[in-house]
Amino acid sequence: MIVIVFKYLIPKGFRGITLFPFIFLFSENEKQDLVVLNHEKIHIRQQFELLIFPFFLWYLLEFLYKWILFKDKKKAYLNISFEREAYINEKDLHYLKQRSFWSFLNYF
Ligand SMILES: [Zn+2]
Repeated sequence: MIVIVFKYLIPKGFRGITLFPFIFLFSENEKQDLVVLNHEKIHIRQQFELLIFPFFLWYLLEFLYKWILFKDKKKAYLNISFEREAYINEKDLHYLKQRSFWSFLNYF
């Protein structure tokens, strides 16, 4: 995992973006923020478990499906199973130590 501060890659309103094995963050503030880092580390694990490319395909398809379902882009994003798992558990800094394989399925 390689953490890089590069705000030009971060979509407006977001703190960071993870493209295995890189975590890109908006600013140095995010780099010091253990919750933000934990959120992105959960995505690193999800991407690794899905062998990277299928993660992004699944992520996109689930986003589109939930966008149609909720008719709300932000709500669709927050309800992607990968994001639900990351947001619900980001404050638990030990989460990844006891997380089981493909846990994101529990958040579908
Ligand atoms: Zn996320």
